[in-house]
Amino acid sequence: MRALSYTQISLYQSCPLCYKLQYIDGLEQKDKGYFSFGTTMHDCAEHFFKVKVPPPPSLEQMLDFYERKWLSQGYESAEEEAEYKAYGRKMLTKFCEIHRPDFRMPIAVEHKFFIDIDNVKLTGRIDRVDKLDSGGLAIIDYKTNQELFTKEYLDNDLQLTLYQLAVEQSWFLPVERLTLYHFRSNTPCSCPPREAAQLEEARKLVLEVAEGIQAGNFPAVESGRCPCDFPEYCPYYKHKFAPQRGETDVLGEAAVPQSVERYVALQKEIKGLELELKELKEMIVAFCQAQGLNRVFGKGHALTYKMWEKVGYSEPEIKALLEPAGLWPRVLGFDQSKLKELIKDETVAREIRQKLTELKQVVSASPQLWVRRLVEEE
Ligand code: SF4
Repeated sequence: MRALSYTQISLYQSCPLCYKLQYIDGLEQKDKGYFSFGTTMHDCAEHFFKVKVPPPPSLEQMLDFYERKWLSQGYESAEEEAEYKAYGRKMLTKFCEIHRPDFRMPIAVEHKFFIDIDNVKLTGRIDRVDKLDSGGLAIIDYKTNQELFTKEYLDNDLQLTLYQLAVEQSWFLPVERLTLYHFRSNTPCSCPPREAAQLEEARKLVLEVAEGIQAGNFPAVESGRCPCDFPEYCPYYKHKFAPQRGETDVLGEAAVPQSVERYVALQKEIKGLELELKELKEMIVAFCQAQGLNRVFGKGHALTYKMWEKVGYSEPEIKALLEPAGLWPRVLGFDQSKLKELIKDETVAREIRQKLTELKQVVSASPQLWVRRLVEEE
């Protein structure tokens, strides 16, 4: 199996089908302005820190490098590209102002790693690794994201966790700081290194993803990033984007749009009728109660009114009675939400929790249709 990178793992997690289309079938992603911009800014940071001896390049040299490394692909218009370019120059100027005065040689820049996790190869490229005065290491990854990173984001970022695993295996020195460098504001957003349990979780996740890939498990999973660059291969978007469409015995292609609209119209009608029915029922019941009647008559029908009482038990009262006699466990229901809590409960033996997770399966399946308004999209 090919080595996995953080980008691949994260894509598989968000949509296994998209992962397959990109990394197994080899479909090319479309150019995007923000990708080009991110690449140029990364190249600049690399150029700045990858000197053989100090000092780092001057601002003029950096701006010259920036011009040469600028990528024009993917921007929506010449205006958008010009805006990004001017913005990037400002970011880079600030970057030099901040980092030239206290420049220190990193111990690695664009460090390519290959590590082994229970026979699964993990690869990646770490933007920068610094050696701290304490002797420990700091990992820095540059990001051109819009928003600053929250503490929660930093504490849970899988990329930083995987990089820590890789750095600790490469240098055998403790990692003491993890940083996502927010390039747009030139702000280093840092957090302490991961504890052993979080590193172990990440290792397990890598193995799970590798297992899913090897098992050929590639369902399409919709998310906020849909449609991706390959909608014509996706069961959720194929019908809209694929040029060739099929016919079936039950529904011809030409009848599909009409059937969809009719389905939605019927659903609306049913909802309206249900509301009317509910209101009528409330009025008739109120009338029967006010008049002391159990039956009312129309021309061709009669309606019988009765108060229907569902008989049951109060859980606290039953528990109070049965628990002292040791009989309470015999009447507990099979509560799925409690089962989920049990799986998360670290005081429960790990093997049991693992086994419970493995026992999760599809117990029933029935076709459903969800309605989605397309007005905004169109
Ligand atoms: S459109 Fe969405 S669900 Fe379909 S393959 Fe792409 S990412 Fe997956």
